[in-house]
Amino acid sequence: MSYPRMTIDLNIIRNNVKTVVSLCNKHDIKVAGVTKVFCGNPKIAQAYVDGGVSYLADSRIENLIRLKDFQIPKIMLRLPMKSEVEKVVEYADISLNSEIETIISLSEKAVEKGKVHKIILMVDLGDLREGYYSDESLFQSIEKILELKGVRLAGIGTNLTCYGGVIPNKEILNRLSSLAEDIEEKYKIRLEIVSGGNSSSIHLLTKDEGIEVINNLRLGESLILGREAAYGKQILGTDAGGFKLQAEIIELKEKPSVPTGEIGKDAFGNTPTFVDRGVRKRILCAVGKQDIDFDNIHPIDEGIIILGGSSDHLILDGSDSNIDYKVGDIVEFKMTYVSILRAMTSEFIEKIILE
Ligand SMILES: *Cc1c(COP(=O)(O)O)cnc(C)c1O
Repeated sequence: MSYPRMTIDLNIIRNNVKTVVSLCNKHDIKVAGVTKVFCGNPKIAQAYVDGGVSYLADSRIENLIRLKDFQIPKIMLRLPMKSEVEKVVEYADISLNSEIETIISLSEKAVEKGKVHKIILMVDLGDLREGYYSDESLFQSIEKILELKGVRLAGIGTNLTCYGGVIPNKEILNRLSSLAEDIEEKYKIRLEIVSGGNSSSIHLLTKDEGIEVINNLRLGESLILGREAAYGKQILGTDAGGFKLQAEIIELKEKPSVPTGEIGKDAFGNTPTFVDRGVRKRILCAVGKQDIDFDNIHPIDEGIIILGGSSDHLILDGSDSNIDYKVGDIVEFKMTYVSILRAMTSEFIEKIILE
């Protein structure tokens, strides 16, 4: 057994997924379970499937390849690179798109493989990441797609609260659904999917706010942590404690809380500031910014303060704790999104899956 280590409780995740999926199903919304935060780990993905998701979705093709043995439809979330269209057609049934050149390449590869690849066209409703910004350019692409043999237009979708921080509301989702209706009427087709965003759309479910105009959500954070992402509220019946980090203490000494000498930039190019709390018990743990994000871990011992650290070190203040820590002891933290993502990606963190 080695440290640092993270534990992943599949019971908690499965239960979160069941709770969120049944909330969505009540509104006739199918859930695409987003696996990128845990790098497409198949055991965790199985908890998604057991919990009732209708699709598995990831932004990285490498992760979708890890999920190839699952028999449910898979969605490529990030707009495919032209250089990866062959893999996308091979390992994803559906992809989100906004560039006709890429869609043409996807169609060519699909024809070669004797497949029909489904396309969800992304519409930018103000968050300014991916998607068509003008209806005219969207309609032009649709006309072209309808002529292609290897792809089929499965639907439209939008992404919000990722770059611009725009929070989904009734008006925004109505724009998406009226676009879908326009498309169906104009081209005499049926759109199977109207995908109304990610975990930041969940708050609309609990308020009954116009969410019935969409029929699909792509959810990551709300499944693994039970947290809706617009306001950061915990969803009733879920648990945020599925992922925990354990780090080992390698130094423990009384030191002042302000450095001595002229202060320049720290290891990450920022100029640090310090609160003078006098001489304190400082705890050094063997885990760093390479493996986690210090803003996204929370000590389970409430007496511990996170002071900061560097690539390979986490520095804690243990003076207010009731526990008499020793070198070699383990400190435990709850993890939130960015830390889970980084830790799952780090080969320096051992992962223990609790089934
Ligand atoms: C990551 C991602 C999601 C999931 O976001 P969460 O906030 O974790 O629910 C949904 N859609 C796209 C396009 C994504 O890249």
